[in-house]
Amino acid sequence: MKIANEIRDFQNMINGNLIQSSSGRQIESINPSTGKVWATIPNSTVEDAKSAVRTARSAFEGWSTLPAMERANYLRKIGDLIVQHGEELSELETRDNGWVIRETSYGLIPSLASYWYDAAGATAVGSKGDTVQLGSSSVGYTLREPYGVVVGILPWNSPLFTFTVKAAYALAAGNTVIIKPSELASVASLRYGELINEVLPPGTLNVVSGDGVEVGNTLVSHPNVNRVSLTGSGATARAIAQSTAKNPKPMTFELGGKSANIVFEDADLEKAAQGVTLNGIFTGNAGQICVGGSRILIQRSIIEKMVTKMKEVITEYIQLGDPMHPESAMGPIANATQYEKVCSYIELGKKEGREIIIGGRHGGKDLLPNQPHLAEGYWVEPTLIRVDSNSLRICQEEIFGPVATVIPFDTEDEAIAMANDTEFGLGAGVWTTNLNRAHRMIRKLESGNVWVNTYRTVGPELPFGGQKSSGYGVDSIMEFTREKTCYIDIG
Ligand code: NAD
Repeated sequence: MKIANEIRDFQNMINGNLIQSSSGRQIESINPSTGKVWATIPNSTVEDAKSAVRTARSAFEGWSTLPAMERANYLRKIGDLIVQHGEELSELETRDNGWVIRETSYGLIPSLASYWYDAAGATAVGSKGDTVQLGSSSVGYTLREPYGVVVGILPWNSPLFTFTVKAAYALAAGNTVIIKPSELASVASLRYGELINEVLPPGTLNVVSGDGVEVGNTLVSHPNVNRVSLTGSGATARAIAQSTAKNPKPMTFELGGKSANIVFEDADLEKAAQGVTLNGIFTGNAGQICVGGSRILIQRSIIEKMVTKMKEVITEYIQLGDPMHPESAMGPIANATQYEKVCSYIELGKKEGREIIIGGRHGGKDLLPNQPHLAEGYWVEPTLIRVDSNSLRICQEEIFGPVATVIPFDTEDEAIAMANDTEFGLGAGVWTTNLNRAHRMIRKLESGNVWVNTYRTVGPELPFGGQKSSGYGVDSIMEFTREKTCYIDIG
C-alpha cells in the first residue's frame, strides 16, 4: 500500500478500540526528510494512560490462563500479518524517523516477523519450572509465571524493533502489554498496534502515545503496572527509577552507547574499512543506533591506509537522499532537536579534533541542492573526525548521529584500555585475522555485545544487552516471567 501525501491522523489503541486523546489534543508528526508535518498522533492524558492500565489489567486474567500453545498460535498469526503488511509498515517507519526504505523494508520487516515466530516458540520455555527432591519427605518446585501488566517505553530511533522485542516476549509469557512510543516517532507504532489488535483479544496489547512525563510517568508509576521495560536515555532511566522508588517494580533498561570499533594491523583492511563505516555507523539509521561504532580505534601503523580506504567507501556507498528512494543509503536525522544536537557536536569536533577527515557539513539546501522538497529536512553528512585523545567530549558523550571519531593506538593493551574508557558498555567491534587476539579481546572488552570481523548483527537466537551505563536486563521471554518457589511435605 502506498501512503498518500495528505496529513493522516493516527489513534491510540485501547481495549481493542482506536481512540483519540480524551482531551482531543494532538501532536504533529514531522517528516524529518522534509521538515514538514505529515501526520498527527494523540497527545494523550493521564486519564488515557490510566484507562490503558485498567483495560490491560482486566484482560490479564483471560490471556495469562490460556495454554501456552494457544498464545503461541496468536503470536504466529501476528508474524504472518506483519509480513502481509510489510510494505506499509516499512513506509511508515521510514517517513516517521527517516531510516532509509532499503533498510526498513529488506532488513527490518523480516526481522520483526522472526521475533514474533521466535516468541511463539518460547511460550513453552517460558512456562517451564524446575522440580527438586528435598530428602525423602518433601519436594520443591518452581513455577514460572507472568508479572501482570508490562509497560514498554520506546525511543524514537527504532520504534518497531523495540516495540516487537518487548511486546512479543511479554505476551508470550502471558502478560498483557501497554506500549508508549516516543512522542517524536509514534506513527508506525500506532498502526502496528492497530494491526496486532486484528489478531489479539481486546485489551491484551494497548498503545498510547504522548508526552514522556505525562503519559510515560503515569504508566510506569501506576500501582497496577508490574514490570517496566525502557529503551531510551540514561536520564529517562534515572527519572523512572526515582518515580517508582516508593512502589518498586522490576525494570529493564536498554540505554545508550559509545561503542569502539577496533582495527588491528593484521585485519583484512578492505573488509574493515567497509565494516566500520557502513554497518558500523552510517547505514544504521544515519548513526542513530544505540550500538553505533562511533569511536573507530585504528592501530597507528595502518591509520593512513585505513583513512584513505574509509573515505573511498563513504564516497562510493553513502548516498545521502530521500529515505523513500531505494538507492538512498543514508537518510536525515530523525527530528529537529537531535539535528541541533548532532550539528553542535560537529562544531565541537572542529575545535576539539585534529582534522575533519570527511563530511562536517549539514543542511538540506547545501547537501541536496537538486532536491528542493528536502531543503528543510534535517540533513547531516557522514562525518569522520580525527582526534589524538579518547578523553575529548566528542569521544566520551553519545552523539547519536552520523559522526565518528578516528583514534590511533599502538598496542593491544592500549586499545583495550581506550575502548573500556567510557561510561558505556553496549557494543564493540574487533577487526583482526589473529584468532587468539580476537578471543583475548572478547574477554577483556567491557561490553554487552562483541562482534569480530562483522558488526551490528542481532537476532532472536542470541541475547542483547548492555553493561555499565548502557543498562541492564535479561533475555527475551525470561525478562517477562518470574519464578515462584513451592515446598510440599509428602511425608
Ligand atoms: P528518551 O529517554 O528521551 O525517551 C525514551 C522514551 O521515554 C520516550 O518514549 C519518552 O517519551 C519516554 N519518557 C521520557 N521521560 C519519561 C518519564 N519520566 N517516565 C516515563 N517515560 C518517559 O530517549 P530517546 O531520545 O527517545 O532515545 C534515544 C536513546 O535511546 C539513546 O540514548 C539510545 O542510545 C537509546 N537506545 C538504546 C537502545 C538499546 O537497545 N540499548 C536501543 C535504541 C535506543
